[in-house]
Amino acid sequence: MPKTYQNIETKLIHAGEPEERIRGSVSLPVFQSSTFEYGGQSSYHDLKYIRLNNTPNHIALHKKLAALENAEAALVTASGMGAISTTLLSLLSPGDHLLVQNCLYGGTHDFITKDLTKLGIFYDFIDGSDPESWEPKLRAETKVIYVESMTNPLLQVADLIAVVEFATAHHLISMTDNTFPSPVNFRAPEQGFDLSLHSCTKYLNGHSDIVAGAVIGRGELIQQITHKLNHLGASLDPHACFLLHRGMKTLAVRVRYQNESALAISKFLEHHPAVEKINYLGLESHPDHERARELFDGFSGMLSFELKGDVEVADRFIQNTTLSISAPSLGGVETLITRPATTSHSGMSQEDRQALGISDRLIRLSVGLEATEDLIEDFDQALTP
Ligand SMILES: *Cc1c(COP(=O)(O)O)cnc(C)c1O
Repeated sequence: MPKTYQNIETKLIHAGEPEERIRGSVSLPVFQSSTFEYGGQSSYHDLKYIRLNNTPNHIALHKKLAALENAEAALVTASGMGAISTTLLSLLSPGDHLLVQNCLYGGTHDFITKDLTKLGIFYDFIDGSDPESWEPKLRAETKVIYVESMTNPLLQVADLIAVVEFATAHHLISMTDNTFPSPVNFRAPEQGFDLSLHSCTKYLNGHSDIVAGAVIGRGELIQQITHKLNHLGASLDPHACFLLHRGMKTLAVRVRYQNESALAISKFLEHHPAVEKINYLGLESHPDHERARELFDGFSGMLSFELKGDVEVADRFIQNTTLSISAPSLGGVETLITRPATTSHSGMSQEDRQALGISDRLIRLSVGLEATEDLIEDFDQALTP
């Protein structure tokens, strides 16, 4: 019988590891073999082959990821977008309709609004904080409700419990992109979500050196999505599996440190005279602070803020920082700083950004593992050059 573990720190180290260590190896080796000796399998999907997502490296990751969110099953994919696109293509057919939160990761936004509509799959945007407004948008063809556990870059938290209740009441599949909180701060399946999606490129791997994705949730859905992935081919390479597996072991210590560091930095920025507005879920000033406090175990390492002055002031600040690196992406060991209007949200029109409250001067920070006081000292000098 597979062992079960209580706490996430222990699961990160031990869940999903081979019951008997392979040749005594403490760390699961990379199985760099595309194909494996035939073992009498009768189904195509059970043949051992990298694209079929069932090498020893895949299987260990699937078990570990499922354990982290207390779910039945999990699947790793070649990228976060591989997880999102494969999942939606598995569960939706031409003529179907889905409800999606109005503030989405750029790739997801474009996939739903451009690629799915071409296939005859339609959507309506919903305001995640206003459950009353969802029912009028429901159609007989609605199959899925899709949200993000924490939105980018304003870090808003939808009424996630209402999403699950709405899905149950109307027989929809509920899914949330759980990349930003990571399983340390929020485990969507525990709250009743059918599926939890991740860009493992971010916190789960945590070292800014691979792209990878995951879907975690109900067993029958994961099996259906696995078969679709076998056909679409967005499978994770064994070496990337190995790096993700290695990176994940430190997830809890990394994210807890990042939670604390981001809170300290947010408090510093909140009181700085050059700062106009700050969005951090751990601050009481964030409109979704109470909801996050009830649902999450931590407020993450992500924050965004506006400085007094124009876009040039923001860009000068970014240039003046010496520790944080100006780059898109997030969740790594190094602090990354970016202006979403020029990176993650550059595909949106300025009008659309403004409607969502994303100003051109907004700066987003992904807090890394540097000493908190060094980061604060660096921001202080960059604010008052
Ligand atoms: C980065 C990201 C994605 C896409 O992941 P990739 O690994 O880059 O494909 C999806 N959702 C969120 C919230 C992300 O931050």
